[in-house]
Amino acid sequence: MKTRTVQVGDVVFGGAAVVLIAGPCAVETEDQLAATARAVASQGARVLRGGAYKPRTNPRSFQGLGPDGLRLLAQVKRETGLLLQTEITAPTQLDDFAAAGVDILQIGSRNMHNYELLKTVGRSDFAVFLKRGYMATVDEFIQAAEYVADGGNDRLILCERGIRTFESRTRFTFDVGAVPALKTLAPWPVAVDPSHAAGRAEYVGPLAKAGVAAGADAVMVEVHPTPPQALSDGLQSLDFAQFAALVAELKPLAAALGRTLG
Ligand code: PEP
Ligand code: MN
Repeated sequence: MKTRTVQVGDVVFGGAAVVLIAGPCAVETEDQLAATARAVASQGARVLRGGAYKPRTNPRSFQGLGPDGLRLLAQVKRETGLLLQTEITAPTQLDDFAAAGVDILQIGSRNMHNYELLKTVGRSDFAVFLKRGYMATVDEFIQAAEYVADGGNDRLILCERGIRTFESRTRFTFDVGAVPALKTLAPWPVAVDPSHAAGRAEYVGPLAKAGVAAGADAVMVEVHPTPPQALSDGLQSLDFAQFAALVAELKPLAAALGRTLG
């Protein structure tokens, strides 16, 4: 199916550019967020990701800064001009996200089946970055996207982020075949998230390259100034040098495919 373009600010998903989305798993401190934003922007990232509300599997894990995290995101957007992408976990957060200047609402893997949340964002005019449920088939994923689109909002980006299989050496199994399947079966741009699939920083680059080679329109990567100190997902987060090295490898690959990066 022909991929339609989704424009957010001056960034176009589904066009010639493979859009680079990067940032920490969670917003932790002003310094952490600002330093990461500057580092990823200097490498060509157009969108800053960072969770203020974190849907953690373990209820005693760091749950995010909530409203304070949104405030820090808004501040860093003013300083860097990056677009903001952050995860929404409940319909009640929508007004605060609008006030903070969030550009792209992320629906997390655990909420792909949350149909009331899908309907709520489907009535909004935010762009929506919908992550595949880690137990969802490609068809179930597309049906979740249709919940959003049926509300009138078809500014969607679909993200493959790994599925649960018997394999435990990676955090999830990166389903690279989902990229061409989604591009064939659905009209929306497709992103890949190698970070959550890999679970380990050293596997992120190879999976990112596989995703781009398979036709992804965007790549989302977790980056942290000091990954061992991260409050969430440190093991899979790239430091600034690792992120720069990944970008240097992705650029020629994108070019060989007739695309640009960033
Ligand atoms: C995230 O992007 O930080 C995240 C929580 O991802 P997922 O919903 O795919 O687990
Ligand atoms: Mn994460």
